[in-house]
Amino acid sequence: MSEDCIFCAIVDGDIPGRIVRETETTLAFLDANPLAPGHTLVIPKDHHARLDDLPDDVAADIFRDVHELVSRVEDAVDADATTVGINDGEAAGQEVPHVHAHIVPRFDGDGGHPIHAVAG
Ligand code: 5GP
Repeated sequence: MSEDCIFCAIVDGDIPGRIVRETETTLAFLDANPLAPGHTLVIPKDHHARLDDLPDDVAADIFRDVHELVSRVEDAVDADATTVGINDGEAAGQEVPHVHAHIVPRFDGDGGHPIHAVAG
């Protein structure tokens, strides 16, 4: 847990999150400012700022969750496709310094470039 980290506060229940999935090591919840309906974030429960800081097993857990959630989220919002992405570092557009994978449902004709859709 890191003081002043908004995602650690969600893990700890100090601020509300709309939880999609919880495991021993990971949490998935809806993005507060969704780029599309169903926009979901998958995070490690422990505080790690950058991908390079993640232990291998937790990195694997995150991708396992992403893998399992893509079809579930697509089904939930009737999406046609999904953009999955991680902004790793400030210059890449990372605003919250706690690793998170974006699952962004995509719809035929939604017009967004995949990278732009993730970077916002
Ligand atoms: P980044 O730009 O760091 O890749 O993405 C951060 C994401 O976190 C953004 O999509 C933003 O909407 C989301 N976010 C920021 N603060 C909160 C919050 O308090 N709750 C939730 N659920 N999402 C948040």
